[in-house]
Amino acid sequence: MIDWDNGLRVKQNDLYLDSRRPQRLCFVSHAHTDHLAAHDRALGTPQTLAIAKLRTSFASEIVLPFGQKYSLPDIEICLYSSGHVLGSAMLHGSVAEGSFLYTGDFKLRPSLTVPPAEPVQADWLIMETTYGKPFFRFPPRQQVIDELLDRVAKALANGFQPIVLGYALGKAQELIRILTDAGFPVTEHGAVAMLSSIYEKQGVNPGPRRRYRSADFKGPSALTLEERGVLIAPPNVARSAFIEQFEKRVTMMCSGWALLSGANYRYGVDHVLPLSDHADFDELVELVERVRPKKVLTLHGFAEFADYLRDRGVDATTAKPDPQLRLFN
Ligand SMILES: [Zn+2]
Repeated sequence: MIDWDNGLRVKQNDLYLDSRRPQRLCFVSHAHTDHLAAHDRALGTPQTLAIAKLRTSFASEIVLPFGQKYSLPDIEICLYSSGHVLGSAMLHGSVAEGSFLYTGDFKLRPSLTVPPAEPVQADWLIMETTYGKPFFRFPPRQQVIDELLDRVAKALANGFQPIVLGYALGKAQELIRILTDAGFPVTEHGAVAMLSSIYEKQGVNPGPRRRYRSADFKGPSALTLEERGVLIAPPNVARSAFIEQFEKRVTMMCSGWALLSGANYRYGVDHVLPLSDHADFDELVELVERVRPKKVLTLHGFAEFADYLRDRGVDATTAKPDPQLRLFN
């Protein structure tokens, strides 16, 4: 039903799934750059394709809203929310041999800016397992949010510029919503602003915010710290001159990898917070329980998750074969 041929593929009709190489026909689960290539024909939700086109181009598109059935030769498909970022989708496919669900990146925890994931039953489950080790269990979301708000409030009270780093697509908009809901003013880095405006055009307003201008931070017309509020920026600015212009600053990075010791040094920030757009270990297990598949293929992250499932009687293996051998056909 599914195999690996320079990328994950539905054998029946050469429909690729999140291929990183250009393909004739490919499902794009969401618009993070590690899931994109310049395909001849891209299939995805309206939101995903709108964002993807900022980063690559497609000769043609199949635009498919959530929950709408679509027929390709030998396969009927339907997209469901994966709860990861705006427009992110799981693909459910039915072929003569049975059904499958391909998750792309997903999470089951709630979010303020993305509809909840809707996993549906399938015979085969092809799932991302980024955090597929029991070590990766995130604390309750509210606990992480409370810590974020507390650190931001303390920084502002002490005259330090709070700078919160998160991926420009998805994490940044969720952070803006969390912070503005709590009453903090927000300034967003230009890379974030471009994606926030797409969120807004697609009907998801991250919240009131101003776009970064150096004149707001320095010089005669500079705003007060209280007016500028929290600065939201992508992770790649952590060690840049952009950050270093703020002499008194408190920097925070939001990522599931925050659970690893030394993560603050790795990211070059003062604090790390485990706010993730991916499923943690328990959510990965929960997904398998909800989908009730006959077979599981794992993708990305820790291969041990397939071992964990096999030990519990689930037929599971990694989706990407070892270069030396093909594990399935
Ligand atoms: Zn992603």
